[in-house]
Amino acid sequence: MKKSLSILILLFSIIFCYADAGMWLPLLLKQKEAEMQKLGFKLTAEDVYSVNHSSMKDAVVFFGKGCTGEVISKKGLILTNHHCGYYEILKLSTLENNILQNGFWAASHNDEISIAGLTVTFLMYMAEVTEDVLKGVDEKQSLLERDELIRKNIQTKIKKTIENTDFSAEIKPFFYGNQYYIFVSREFKDIRLVGTPPESIGKFGGDTDNWMWPRHTGDFALYRVYANKNGDPVPYSPDNVPLKTESFFPISIKGIEEGDFTMVLGYPGTTQQYLISDGIDMVVNYRNPPLIQQRGTRLDIMKKYMDMQPEVRLMYSGKANTIANGWKKAIGENKGIKETKALNARDKEEKVLELLSTQTVDAYNRFTLLLEIKALYETYKEMETKVVTLRETFQAVELGRFIESVREELTKDYPYSLENKTKLLERAESFYSNYYKPIDKEVFVELLYYYFNNSKKECIPELLQKYADIERESLQGMAKQIYDHSIFSTRENFVRFVETASKKEIAAVHKWLSGNRMFLIANQALTEINNNSYTERTLPNIRRQVDAKYRDWVAFAAKDTTGRYFPDANLTMRVAFGKMEGFSPYNGMVYLPYSTTDGILQKENPNIYDYQVDNKLKDVILYKDFGQYADANGEMRVAFIASNHTAGGNSGSPVLNGNGELVGINFDRAWEGVMSDLYYDISRCRNISLDIRYILFIVDKFAEAGHLIEEMEIRN
Ligand code: ASP
Repeated sequence: MKKSLSILILLFSIIFCYADAGMWLPLLLKQKEAEMQKLGFKLTAEDVYSVNHSSMKDAVVFFGKGCTGEVISKKGLILTNHHCGYYEILKLSTLENNILQNGFWAASHNDEISIAGLTVTFLMYMAEVTEDVLKGVDEKQSLLERDELIRKNIQTKIKKTIENTDFSAEIKPFFYGNQYYIFVSREFKDIRLVGTPPESIGKFGGDTDNWMWPRHTGDFALYRVYANKNGDPVPYSPDNVPLKTESFFPISIKGIEEGDFTMVLGYPGTTQQYLISDGIDMVVNYRNPPLIQQRGTRLDIMKKYMDMQPEVRLMYSGKANTIANGWKKAIGENKGIKETKALNARDKEEKVLELLSTQTVDAYNRFTLLLEIKALYETYKEMETKVVTLRETFQAVELGRFIESVREELTKDYPYSLENKTKLLERAESFYSNYYKPIDKEVFVELLYYYFNNSKKECIPELLQKYADIERESLQGMAKQIYDHSIFSTRENFVRFVETASKKEIAAVHKWLSGNRMFLIANQALTEINNNSYTERTLPNIRRQVDAKYRDWVAFAAKDTTGRYFPDANLTMRVAFGKMEGFSPYNGMVYLPYSTTDGILQKENPNIYDYQVDNKLKDVILYKDFGQYADANGEMRVAFIASNHTAGGNSGSPVLNGNGELVGINFDRAWEGVMSDLYYDISRCRNISLDIRYILFIVDKFAEAGHLIEEMEIRN
């Protein structure tokens, strides 16, 4: 009996029991309470999440489209990362009034700048709804039928839940659909910028420092939530007032030291902790390499031109940021998986399962399931590479995307209807005002050259295979034709065409477009592979099959009630806990757990945009004018690392001490542990947070915006 029990535990925990990893559902935090308290948490699970009284979850918000933020005053003041509102800040910036470069601090509510499209969402409650969602589901249904029924059940449940309220709700699968939870929220739409440091602070170190420790980036910005006089979420109106927020985080300036408890509450986006070895192999060897290659080329080209002209920098820094973030992460992920030998480790675990499979029925069944998943990966891997290479090449060419977006209207009728004309002109306006041709032209040549000369033949759609091994000169010729001699070559040419083209000219463009079918074919191929229909060779279909197998594979973890397993991140609120701690990334090297402003001066380099230091900041650092924000040694801490399991989406999350006071905000992870979305290793995985004292120091001493400090609750 004993033997079979231990085999069972081995069997099920095989392949993914990471001690110390974990992003826990606040609702189930009771399971982790004792463990947290042992580490230094002085409160209870109920203080973190409660539906009966106010709790920490009320002060945590989903910010924008994929970040976290927290409430830090009674008047709806929100703290998050600078990079979370980067696009919005960029959009407000012009060469004449460059908020991105110079920073911005509202002197009063009247100066706070409304940001169209930005939202902040408060979670009201979450609840398990597995029974409702799986109602009517049975084994005889095909996967497609099953999904369809689940989709309908979800719709019904959501409708019923939010009827006659101003709430929104979503239902998400956990453990690959073994469980479902509903999240009921309130989304606020009038969000205003209150303060942002200049980019030289908020993005200090740029892409070079991104995903790296030690860090000196003041990655924060302040916003405010506005509502109508009743506190309801309404669109922008000058009559709106700051939202009264009863729950907000008090701020501790006592600071934390190595070994102290830390907790992160936020919205991690995606993890894949339960992958079998083939799943990791797919990410590392089939998905990441083409992404790294093509994005690297694109970034080099962008940077070359951005460094030459400030207006190009303003236009492309947002685009470059997004590309660079994923690019560098993919490099780090591959490096981490290689250095931790994660793939080998998982392979070995699977071998153990194979050996056990001759001994018990359970092991035999589990091993059979493993083989079934492996078989599916044969197709999955190949399709993944095909999609990623196509996407990272053809979707990267801006003019190609623009042509695709206007192709239909451009060739539909003659003369153009007013509606058509308006659409075309609007699209042209938004495209060309944010577009620098020399970058795109070079991207076109270089990405396509690489694609056609390095892709495996089976990864190139059949109709494009004639271009395999194409010479660079031929691509340059093509680029000349499209970029210099077509109606798309400039905004003026395009507008003139739309305004004045004759029937004959439209026919000629139609013909020309059909002759230049490369983008059309690439796009069609992408659409076909991504098609959600139940045909054999589409990516969603193979994913559906793989996920269905994983549902069985992780069923044991979903059933467990002891709090040993956590569901993968899926952009729902989670709690991660650990402690502030340094680590040794490599033999003979030690990373200290915090950085100070001395590092800013050490990194300063007036010749490199990302390492320029604002003179005023330099002065306050040199004079050590740190006030009450200095640490016990009189130094100013900037950032710290801790062993909280976080992921993309946790950006801006509150980092709390054992008393639930704010001691920092999360903004990144250390390079050596970037593979933590796939494989968490406590010896090298660290989240990076900005010390709250540096934030206050910048607001107070640098921006001289003491009125903002006054509305916070600062604890010594
Ligand atoms: N830098 C990340 C983000 O943008 C945070 C992380 O992935 O750790 O969400």
